[in-house]
Amino acid sequence: MTRECIRSEVRKKRQAVSGIHVAEMSLRICEKIVALPEYLKAKRVLCYAALPEEVQTRGILWAIQRSRRELYLPVWQRDGSMKAVRVTEDTEFKPDQFGIDTPVSDETLPPEQLDLALVPGVAFDRAGNRLGFGKGYFDRFLARCRCPAIGLAYELQLVDAIEAQPQDVPMQKIITERAVYNCAASE
Ligand code: ADP
Ligand code: MG
Repeated sequence: MTRECIRSEVRKKRQAVSGIHVAEMSLRICEKIVALPEYLKAKRVLCYAALPEEVQTRGILWAIQRSRRELYLPVWQRDGSMKAVRVTEDTEFKPDQFGIDTPVSDETLPPEQLDLALVPGVAFDRAGNRLGFGKGYFDRFLARCRCPAIGLAYELQLVDAIEAQPQDVPMQKIITERAVYNCAASE
């Protein structure tokens, strides 16, 4: 299957999931994240404000802040790059060009200084390859990170194989409602 085919098929399946099921699966994923050694060790964590079709992150955003970790969210730039912006209790949000809630703040962190990146995606394979929306924002950002990148997905987003391109940055682990997939170990 081509990358484009995988994108459209998985997105169709993902959009058909009911709201209650989305909430339940996202909660299971959140429970697994907070038990990960990578999370327990991390002080500065990048997460994302989810689109309706993505794994929901309200629970994990709350857990990061409650545990006094530093929370960062991506802010997309017109030049195709992405910044990690600090979010505190006082941060204001406004929708960006994709309709995603985006923090209004100048406090950015160089990607090199993050301890953990929790990454959305359209599809993943069990080797850690990731397909996004096809804009490469996370690839460019993660190329600069030194921390583990962990993909968050519903089980229905896993496919047999994604042909990685040179710019693609693989995930160390993928967390679904059913399992924690250790991608580095399966290579
Ligand atoms: P996604 O990861 O969102 O599914 P792709 O991996 O298909 O998207 O990347 C989309 C495009 O983004 C690529 O064809 C490439 O032009 C650009 N791109 C991605 N990563 C980089 C990078 N590290 N440097 C330059 N261009 C990149
Ligand atoms: Mg990519």
